[in-house]
Amino acid sequence: MGFKNNFIKFSKRIIREKEGIIRAISIVRNDEWKKYKKFLGKGYEWYIITPANYDYCKNVFNLNIEKEEFIRVLKERIKVLKKHKEKIQLSIFLCKIKKFLDDQLQEEIFKEAFDFFQEMNVTPKFFFPIDMVYNQFTINLARKFGLEELTDFDLFIIKPLLRILKLFKIKSGFVNNFYKFLKIKDFKSILYLIIGELRDVKEKTVHIEAFMRGDMWNVIKRKILGKGYTLFVITPVDYDYCKTYFNIKIDKIEFSNTLKERIKFLKDNGEEIQLHVHFCQHKDFLDNDLQESKFHEAVGFINSLEIKPKKFAAGWWVFNRKTLDIAEKYGFEEIFDYTFNPFKKKIKLKGITLSYVHKYWHDFDFI
Ligand SMILES: [Zn+2]
Repeated sequence: MGFKNNFIKFSKRIIREKEGIIRAISIVRNDEWKKYKKFLGKGYEWYIITPANYDYCKNVFNLNIEKEEFIRVLKERIKVLKKHKEKIQLSIFLCKIKKFLDDQLQEEIFKEAFDFFQEMNVTPKFFFPIDMVYNQFTINLARKFGLEELTDFDLFIIKPLLRILKLFKIKSGFVNNFYKFLKIKDFKSILYLIIGELRDVKEKTVHIEAFMRGDMWNVIKRKILGKGYTLFVITPVDYDYCKTYFNIKIDKIEFSNTLKERIKFLKDNGEEIQLHVHFCQHKDFLDNDLQESKFHEAVGFINSLEIKPKKFAAGWWVFNRKTLDIAEKYGFEEIFDYTFNPFKKKIKLKGITLSYVHKYWHDFDFI
């Protein structure tokens, strides 16, 4: 990557998960804090999230609090860490896709993070870019703020495997779900994974979620339109998600109007439109109110475009039994889940079918 040549002081450290570090990014959630507290006084390095990533946390961890409250809780917890003389480092989320990163966004996020640390009298030396999305500009910026090391994960078997898949131009859900595979240790699972990736699938599904971006929309029209994919599209209920993940600088009204126009275009061009909603990133953080309200808004929007979807896919593949009930209530017939096992058969549960995909794409996989 050329870090060593360009920056004498800057290093990149590769670590295994849980090797002396705690990625305390969900620390503001009370249930998570309870778990984290057990690691106090054991010599870990704490990679802390900052108010610069409030929107990100709110969205992925289903946090139902205002920013002021978020900051208050965060400060309180950092004080506890300081009391225990814990080493505090930085976790930072910039964007989901490297191609969508821009300098201005990074400058804003870093500045807010370090204003906060300065106020708290904390001087981190290491940082962890969440989802490993960063570029050379990030490194320059990090140095400017006194950081000396970028901490990255050793993805064990996954990274070499990703490289092989790339050689064969295979790009699918696997790439986006590799965190899940960190847990896979047995040989059979890995074999399934490879078979699943190499096998062709009849039902080709794409999650359409970055298409409010002009660059992405052009790619969709060129590479996805008319290819017989089933399109699981997001709705304005995912505004916060898109804003943080894809670096979007428009307000919710403009966002909604763009979605309306583009989903209609897809529909008028004969595409199969189904529904995609992100609740939150972890099953433990799901709650019924969140699911009800998001479903309500999403279905209302899609119906207003005279589309009646029958299939549903949850963002991050995170859903529970309650989701099935709610989906059924809104007239859905099929819910999709991800599995690395390409032989898993669908299950019929009361009025709804649980189907499994081992291969799927995101629109941004095509850019
Ligand atoms: Zn998604």
